[in-house]
Amino acid sequence: MRKRMHFVWLLAIITITGIIVFQVYWVYNSYKAEERNFYSSVTFSLERSIGAYLLKEIGPQIVFKTDSSSLSKINGVVRVPAERDRWPETTPAGEGIIVRFSNSQNSPPDVAQTKLVAATLIARNSGKLLKMGVLSSILQQELQKNNLDVSFKLVLLKKQKTLPLNKAAVFVSFSNDGDVIVVNITNKGQYLLLRILAPALISLLLIFLSAASLYYMWIIIRRQMKLDSMKNDFFSNIAHELRTPISILKSTHEALHKFGESSDPEITSRYLEINTAILDKLDSNVDRLLDITRYEHGDKQVNIEQVDLLALINKTIAEFSVHDHVSIQYNLPLNAYVNADKYIIHTVLTNLVDNAIKYTEGQVKINIIAALTDHHWKLEVKDNGQGIDEEYLPYIFDKFYRVPSGNIHAVKGYGLGLNYVKELVAALNGKIDVKSSKGVGTTFILKFPIYG
Ligand code: ADP
Repeated sequence: MRKRMHFVWLLAIITITGIIVFQVYWVYNSYKAEERNFYSSVTFSLERSIGAYLLKEIGPQIVFKTDSSSLSKINGVVRVPAERDRWPETTPAGEGIIVRFSNSQNSPPDVAQTKLVAATLIARNSGKLLKMGVLSSILQQELQKNNLDVSFKLVLLKKQKTLPLNKAAVFVSFSNDGDVIVVNITNKGQYLLLRILAPALISLLLIFLSAASLYYMWIIIRRQMKLDSMKNDFFSNIAHELRTPISILKSTHEALHKFGESSDPEITSRYLEINTAILDKLDSNVDRLLDITRYEHGDKQVNIEQVDLLALINKTIAEFSVHDHVSIQYNLPLNAYVNADKYIIHTVLTNLVDNAIKYTEGQVKINIIAALTDHHWKLEVKDNGQGIDEEYLPYIFDKFYRVPSGNIHAVKGYGLGLNYVKELVAALNGKIDVKSSKGVGTTFILKFPIYG
C-alpha cells in the first residue's frame, strides 16, 4: 500500500509540475506574442505619424496641376498616379522635383498618397530637419487612435545601417543619412502585463484548482486508508468484545448443564442473573449498532415530549450505582423540564457517563450540569479522567475511531459510542462539543434547541 501511495504522490507531483511548467511557458509565449504585436503596432503608428508630419509641414506647399492626359505636376513637373516606388527622375535646378508614374489610365489618382510621396521627395531634397516635438504630438494622437495608451520618448539615431532589435523604430524616409527614429516606451512592461493579466490570472487559477483537486484527492485517499485501518480495528475489537461474554455464557451454561449445578437453586439463579446481564449488554450493543445506521439514514424518527431532566439524570445515576468508585453529582435549574426525545437524552447521557467511567483510573467524579436559556438548553458531562490529547480531539466522533494507545487497548470498545451520541444529538438538531486536558479530565458540552 505504501508503495502504491508513493506512486500516487509521484504521479501527482509530476502532474502538477507539468501543469505549472506548461502554464508558465504558455503565459511567457503570450507575453512575447503580445510584445511583438505591440512593437509592430507602434512602428505602424510611427510610420503613419511621419507621413502625417510631412503632410503637415510640407503639404501646404504642394500644388497639383493636371492636364488632359491625366498628368499632374508637383511643385513643377510631376506625373500621377500609381507606381509609387519610382523616385525622382531628374530634379531641374530651382524648378522642383519631377516624378514619372506609369499606368495613369487604369487607376485613378490617389491624391493623398501622391501628396505624401511628393512631400517626402521635397523634404529629402530640401534637407529639412525633423521637428521631434511636432512628430511626438502627432504620434501621441496616432497611438491613442489605435488604443495604445503608452508614454514614450522619441530618440533620433544618426548614421544607422540597420534598425535596432526589439524596439519600435523606422528609418526616416526623407533622410539620406541613415537616420532612425526610435520610440522608447517608458511603461511597456506595465502595458504588456495589463494586456496578459486576464490569461495569466486564469492560468494561475487553473494551477490553483489543479493543485487543490490533487490535494483534495490526497486527503480523500488518506481518509479512506484511515477508515480501512479503523474498520480492521473494529473487527478485531468486536471479536474480542464478543469472545468475553460468549465464554462467560459458555462456562455458566456448562456448569448448569454438565456439572449438575442446576440442582442448587441459589447457584442456578445467580448464573441466570449473570447470563441475563450479559445478554442485555449484548442486546444493547446490537441495538446501538443498528440505531446508528437508522439515525444516519433518517429511518428512525425523534419523539418530542416533555422530559423531566432531574428524573432522567437520577435514573441514569441509579443505573451506574453498582460502581462503588464512581460519584456522580449534578447541577440543575429548578423545574428543569425540556421538550426533547427522552430515549435520545437518556442514551446520550448513559454513553457519556459510561465513557467517563471507562476512561478514568481510580476514583471517578462526574458532574452533570444542565442550563436553560431562551433559545436553547445545554447539558454538560464533566469527568476527572485521563483526558484526550488535543491532536486526537477532531476524530473522536468518527465512526470506529479509538484514541491510539499503543498496540493494546486497556479499555475495550468499538469506537462507536461517541459517533452514536453525535448522530443522536444531530437527530435533535443539537450540537456536541468537547474540551479536554490530558491528565485533568474531559467535558462534553451539548446544546439543543428549545422545541415548542
Ligand atoms: P469506545 O469507547 O468504544 O472506544 P467512543 O466512540 O465512545 O468509543 O470513544 C472514542 C474514543 O474517545 C475512545 O476510544 C477514547 O479514547 C476517547 N474517549 C471518549 N470519551 C472519553 C472520556 N470521557 N475521557 C477520555 N477519553 C475518552
